[in-house]
Amino acid sequence: MKKILIFIGPPGSGKGTQAKLLAQKYGFKHISTGDLLRALSVDAKASAEQKTALEEMKAGKLVPDWLIYELAFEAVKENLASGKGVVLDGAIRNVEQAQKYQDFFEQNGWNDEVAVIEVALSDEEAFNRLTKRRICKNCGEIIPYLSATKDLVDCPKCGGKLIYRQDDKKEIIEARIREQGNEALKPIVDFYEKLGILKVLDGNQTIEKVNAEIFALFE
Ligand SMILES: [Zn+2]
Repeated sequence: MKKILIFIGPPGSGKGTQAKLLAQKYGFKHISTGDLLRALSVDAKASAEQKTALEEMKAGKLVPDWLIYELAFEAVKENLASGKGVVLDGAIRNVEQAQKYQDFFEQNGWNDEVAVIEVALSDEEAFNRLTKRRICKNCGEIIPYLSATKDLVDCPKCGGKLIYRQDDKKEIIEARIREQGNEALKPIVDFYEKLGILKVLDGNQTIEKVNAEIFALFE
């Protein structure tokens, strides 16, 4: 079993859910850059530079790459040093970042520990899933747009009313897909393919089916 698993895929592909399930099953640490930034913002030991970057981020600036590297690399080191594997989710947005991570792994002698899992989904299907998913007005359960759930009228958990989410507005989702969809992913996918460490799964299937295929990869 490899110790460093990297998930990539377009928004709506379910890669975050799969990353968490895999981490749970193997007792790996699930590392999401969003979580790392949230943790840093309440960390008393944050450096002055880190605090400045967080302030600027709150004011709408992009998170600087060095901060992401600093946090993610530290988290990877800490876990691998104690013998624990890691699952990286949403960490890599372009080839430059992919290369940086790869350099870091090589410097630490972890070249053979890396596997990349792409949860593949067309932009069209990603758009459908994100604009057509619903949330329960009562309990907050998210109902994905899948063949098994698309015709539901009431919440399967509490019977509450299902509504569309404000965040899921068309224009916002179109912008997200432009930035993080298949066109942006293509160079990253090519990068990992050349390294021979990429596994591709069909994200059009149900969460359970994709999950079973991921587990089968490592059995
Ligand atoms: Zn509900």
